[in-house]
Formats: sequence, structure tokens, C-alpha cells
Amino acid sequence: FTALQSQDPEIAGVVLDELDRLRGGLQLIASENLTSPAVLAALGSTLSNKYAEGYPGRRYYGGCGVVDQAEEIGNARTKELFGAEHVNLQPHSGASANLAAYAAFAKPGDTVLAMDLKQGGHLTHGSKVNFSGLWFNAVSYLVREDTELIDYDQVRSLAHEHKPKIIIAGATAYPRTIDFKIFREIADEVGAKLMVDAAHFIGLVAGKAIPSPVPYADVVTATTHKVLRGPRGGMVLCRAEHAKAIDKAVFPFSQGGPLMHAVAAKAVAMREAAQPEYQAYARQVIANAQALAKSLEAEGMRAVSGGTDTHLSLIDLRPIGVTGSDAETRCDRANITLNKNAIPYDPAPPMKPSGLRVGSPSVTTQGMTEPDMAAIGSLLARAVKAEHDTPAGDRELDAVRDEVATLVGRSPAYPRG
Ligand code: PLP
Repeated sequence: FTALQSQDPEIAGVVLDELDRLRGGLQLIASENLTSPAVLAALGSTLSNKYAEGYPGRRYYGGCGVVDQAEEIGNARTKELFGAEHVNLQPHSGASANLAAYAAFAKPGDTVLAMDLKQGGHLTHGSKVNFSGLWFNAVSYLVREDTELIDYDQVRSLAHEHKPKIIIAGATAYPRTIDFKIFREIADEVGAKLMVDAAHFIGLVAGKAIPSPVPYADVVTATTHKVLRGPRGGMVLCRAEHAKAIDKAVFPFSQGGPLMHAVAAKAVAMREAAQPEYQAYARQVIANAQALAKSLEAEGMRAVSGGTDTHLSLIDLRPIGVTGSDAETRCDRANITLNKNAIPYDPAPPMKPSGLRVGSPSVTTQGMTEPDMAAIGSLLARAVKAEHDTPAGDRELDAVRDEVATLVGRSPAYPRG
């Protein structure tokens, strides 16, 4: 960092500003976390220089013996952690991992069945502006209107009607655990491959805090940077019978040279996630998400589906008459970072949805526990309810921001020294 500061103070300043932002506020974005200095060190290493197209022992470049070790160690750790028969750590992102899984099991024009985007599915689950919706015939399942839980009966009937090549379980904004056994049964009934997109919750699986999809799925895709707390990136776990197809779909089909510094950082994260402390962390992530949802309910908001089994909750703001976008803006002013989100069957437009998504991975990494969640809930509620664009509202947001600073000062992100 000293080299960066002396050579390029402008970018060094950006790096320090981001560190200040992390230290000075509450990070409640459910898909983010605070990686360890060890992961950051691997990311910032000279492994970034190496071209290594191919796989360990079968590269298209010389000089790959050292980076081969990083990938082999990472693969072994990941297989052990998840009990997976095969792993590919090369996908640059979760979206790349998903593209590879589609490519391994389907051809353009084939049908895939996945969760509706408006109800929590990801862009790569059939959006018309994404490869998944442009190149594939995407059919969507919903959550039930009464329980706000996945409508497994509908998944079954859509699967029988449309005979998809791939059925996808997993989402971006679904607070409950998913019944992978039912998905497996449905996939078997119609001869589909079962793909579990575990990007959001794979860290909770690593920490043995929720059931694993690995025994049920043909393929599990994931990101490595959410609850799992590794570097930004993706990965694919699969059954041995699909190993060749998945590896070919990552390289050479959809990617060129792997990011070997990121692969090494993934290996570091897998070792961290195998420790007993990480299992305690994963359990605390869930306890914190539940405590935060409860405290927001006590403030008059509604947790979609009545709560959460995971690291995130979806909060319906209609009972307090505030839009998700206004809530996001006000929280931003108070250094509480989160995102607006549609709720199931949201009557409001996507850019002004009725809800918020709040997650506990980052604050839990900072060492916060249930009493802190109660404090966060009340600060968040004060920010969200602050008067819009009035001097009194501004004073309230300033006061909340000061209290946020005090709270995070007690459990800082990246403590100094
Ligand atoms: N799948 C799911 C369920 C996600 O939530 C995300 C990202 O949030 C992705 C895939 C894509 O990951 P990335 O942003 O790394 O491409």
C-alpha cells in the first residue's frame, strides 16, 4: 500500500475512503461481507500476473507449476468442506458460474424453470436482458401469496407442463431455507437436471448452519464473496459424472485465463470456513438476521414470510407508509447501507418497490450480536421514518448517523492496527 500511496495517491485515496466508509457505517447489504486480511493478501499477490488457461497439470502456458498448487489446494479444501465430488474454482463471478452450468446441461432455445425475478430470483434465472432469458426459454415459478414460501406444487406442475432441461433452486432475495429434496424429486419426475444456485447461502452451508444442497443437486453454483467471506468470484460444485461437462463449460467455452490470485484467495477462504469459529459465525449470522427482523417488526414493519431462516430478511414497509427507495436514501444519509427490494406480489413499480432487503453477514463479521441488532433495528427505523426533506428530518438523520458511528466504533470493521 505504501507503493500505491507514493505512486498513485489518487487511487490510494479512493482505497482509504472506502475503508473509512466501511469503518464509519453499518453494512446491511445481504450479499456483502468483510473479507479477512489473509484473503486480501492473496488477492493482492503476484499470482495475478500468471496466465494459466486450462486446469492443473493441463495448462496452455508454461510456468504454471506454482499456480497449479494454489488451484489444487483450493479444490481439495472445497471438496472436503462441502463433501462435493468435483469443484471448479475458476468462474470469475456467480453469473459466470451460472452461464457454465447452463452451457453444460442445455442448448439455446431449451427451457429452464427458475424463480421469478420479481419474487427473488436472480438476473441469470431468466431475465430478458440477460443471456438466460435471451438464449433460453425461461419459465418462472412463484411464492405462494398466503405464506410467501416457494409454491412447490406450482414448481411441480410447471415442470410437468414445460419439461425443462434445468430446474433452478436458489434466489437473491428469499429469506427461507429451500427444500432441495422436493426439487430433486420434481427434477427426477421430468428428467431435468437440478441446479442449485447457492450464491447467497453457500456460506451458511459451509458453516453447517443450514442443510446442504450438495447431496441433491446435479450442480451447485455459488459466489465466494457473500456469507462465505472469500474474494469476489464464483465456483461450481458438481457430481463426478458432470465434471468434464462443467470444466469444459467454464474453460474454454465461457472464460479464458483464470484469475489465479482469486483462485488462491478462494483457497484461503475455504480454509477459514472449515474452522470451528466459522461455524459459530454462520450460526450467529442467522441469529442476528432473526433478531434484526424481529426488532424491525417491533417498529411496525413486516418481515416477509414472518421472518427468516438465513442471513437476510425482506422487510415490507407498507405498514409504515414509506417506499423502499425513500428508505434506502434516508438510511444512506445515516450511513446505514442497504438496498430497496421488491416484495412478493409487490403492487409498486420496481424502481420504487415496497420493501428493503437487510442482511447480517458484515455486522456479524464485526462481532455484533443480538443486542446490537436491536440497536440497529431502532436506528434503522428512526432513519426510515425521518421526515422527508425537512430541517427536522435532516437533524434526525444527523443524530442517527452519530449514533451509528458510536455503535460501529464499539465493533469496528477492519480494526486499526
Ligand atoms: N446468483 C445469485 C442467486 C445471486 O444473488 C448473485 C449475485 O448477487 C449471482 C448469482 C451473481 O453473482 P455475481 O454478481 O458474482 O455475478
